[in-house]
Amino acid sequence: MIELEGLTKRYGEKVAVDSLTFTVRPGIVTGFLGPNGAGKSTTMRMILGLDHPTAGDVRIDGTHYDRLRQPLTRIGALLEAKAMHPGRSAHNHLLCLAQSNGIPPRRVHEVLDAVGLTAVARKKAKGFSLGMGQRLGIAAALLGDPRILMFDEPVNGLDPEGIHWIRTLMKSLAAQGRTVFVSSHLMSEMALTADHLVVIGQGRLLADTSMAEFIERNSRSFVRVRSPQREQLLEMLHGAGVTAVESGDGALEVDGSKAEQIGELAARSRIVLHELSPQQASLEEAFMRLTAESVEYHAHSGTPLPPQTWGEGWKKG
Ligand code: ADP
Ligand code: MG
Repeated sequence: MIELEGLTKRYGEKVAVDSLTFTVRPGIVTGFLGPNGAGKSTTMRMILGLDHPTAGDVRIDGTHYDRLRQPLTRIGALLEAKAMHPGRSAHNHLLCLAQSNGIPPRRVHEVLDAVGLTAVARKKAKGFSLGMGQRLGIAAALLGDPRILMFDEPVNGLDPEGIHWIRTLMKSLAAQGRTVFVSSHLMSEMALTADHLVVIGQGRLLADTSMAEFIERNSRSFVRVRSPQREQLLEMLHGAGVTAVESGDGALEVDGSKAEQIGELAARSRIVLHELSPQQASLEEAFMRLTAESVEYHAHSGTPLPPQTWGEGWKKG
């Protein structure tokens, strides 16, 4: 369990992390979602005691990171910047980590195997691709067999096979009862991986909810209707007290009604339909809406940032 209470980090005038309070629980994958610059990496560094909070507190199973005995056996992490000797092999890198943390050397082989690096374990790490580097970082996180794992944007730079592998790994770690905390700026990634979602924007908490609840609350569902008798259809819907908006491509989007109801109304008025399809607005849109709102809010408190900047910003790698 990771507990944050009013966790805050300022860099001069800039508030990178703004009074975050939430708990990361065991047995599930908790996604930590926010646009680039939202404060995810800063929060994770504070959890690991690599950055000092300006205010607030963070505890790992009730204890501060620097008070943990053999911390690698309690919490393992893959952070953005991987510090590693380029001339050292993956095997030696992990062996050094193991030896300085009282972890048996045989564990090195286990984790190399788990991340699929056994074949290149003796090669120098400077020849590693980004994906191999990520795998090595994950091997290091797993080395102490910790009950808590934290990954900062682990799928960055990975190919589809690597992304699938990480997703499966995180789910299986959570299924073993471990606490899994993973950051991403991509809603699409979180939707496939996370059971629980913590969303931040400009350092502030925007949502702390189960994935299912987030989907339920944030996805607009509507029915897309196309008809060659568009005007009659609009009139008929209007008469029935149903609101329809134009979708831009000639179709209508109807909120608050089921496809069945619309189909029956149309049949009764002998209106031909070419399309009648229930739709779900994407989670991406919900995420953008959520974070854009935080931008608007901040625009009044002296740190303006046009929504367009965010819209682009969170898409970039
Ligand atoms: P994320 O990981 O969500 O992309 P970060 O935690 O890296 O966000 O950054 C949050 C904000 O804090 C950004 O505006 C970033 O520029 C700023 N920031 C991060 N680290 C530092 C630092 N060492 N000095 C000054 N500003 C920083
Ligand atoms: Mg980051």
